[in-house]
Amino acid sequence: MPGRPEHVAPHVDTETPTGAVGVSAPALPSPRGELRRPAEADWQAVLDAIAGASSVDLLAHVLPDGDALGSALAVGLALRQRGVDVRVSFGDDPQVVPASLSFLPGQELIVPVSAVPERPELMISFDVADARRLGLLQAKAEAARQLVVVDHHTSNAGFGTLRLIDPLAPATAVLVDELLRRLGVPLDQQIATCLYAGVASDTGSFRYAATTPATHEFAARLLAAGVPHDAISRRLWDTQSFGYLKVLAAALERAELEPQAAGGRGLVWTWVPWADLLAHGVPPEQIEGLIDTVRKAAEAEVALVLKEDPDGSLRGSSRANGSVDVALACAALGGGGHAYAAGFTSHRGVAATVAAFRTAIDEQSAPISD
Ligand code: MN
Repeated sequence: MPGRPEHVAPHVDTETPTGAVGVSAPALPSPRGELRRPAEADWQAVLDAIAGASSVDLLAHVLPDGDALGSALAVGLALRQRGVDVRVSFGDDPQVVPASLSFLPGQELIVPVSAVPERPELMISFDVADARRLGLLQAKAEAARQLVVVDHHTSNAGFGTLRLIDPLAPATAVLVDELLRRLGVPLDQQIATCLYAGVASDTGSFRYAATTPATHEFAARLLAAGVPHDAISRRLWDTQSFGYLKVLAAALERAELEPQAAGGRGLVWTWVPWADLLAHGVPPEQIEGLIDTVRKAAEAEVALVLKEDPDGSLRGSSRANGSVDVALACAALGGGGHAYAAGFTSHRGVAATVAAFRTAIDEQSAPISD
């Protein structure tokens, strides 16, 4: 099992893993050196579980992104074709599909938390690195007779009864493609659109280091199935409310550059008070991508955005370009994720949280010589 169970977070940042141009390693092995891709027997056990189930519950993580929800809906559409009683859900209250994902087919399969059975027969989670990321559905998942975990996070804690975890996969959607192939379900336009949302989201539109020739071959098959990739890209990357632009402007105005941090590699950070979201009518899921703007600062290897929740806690999203492992840094704050993209939740104030993060990246960064 890959993973670092002692370093797992209630909020592991998952929206855009494995960033970084010019870094060749697709993923770093976990500190324990374990990096086992699913074996033939793992796939077979999951196929057997699905074949024996009359009802299946498919879960994305809280605040679902394109990979989590796209993966769950793709399997939902496939199983519905096969006559399986299928539900898709995620443990948020209220349960909101982000506007950027409004194009996803199969949303009629989504049910509220209350409609998920107390003791599901077969539950499959997608892109969920830690059971706590199931939110309000964690208890029902733990009560499920069978819980299959389909994921690609190096920090996956190894929960569930069956696991398909590949830390080298650029997206959970890639694992779902393999699952559907083994189920004998062809990629129709709807399923392909769901999977495209997953792989495009998690590779930053095929820019990140985890993107391989196989990723592009996967995308080619999806496009051949009729995915409207131009419209999806505009929705995923190039559409925001005016209110978001104002929140972004304030966050950029507030940004700090610390060139000496991370052994001289540099840290850029900012934060977003809850009041800003309220003032501009911006739901919290809409600022998940703000880190991608902040990380553009050439002077900083590491970027950090703190997002305040209504209870005053801070959700941290961090990115690095390859010479700092932010999964390790976030683990020091009780979080986790990928080496290039990770997150945490802090109950301290902004200054104390940034100080703790700075210490964590300093500790693993030898000063740059010459
Ligand atoms: Mn993912």
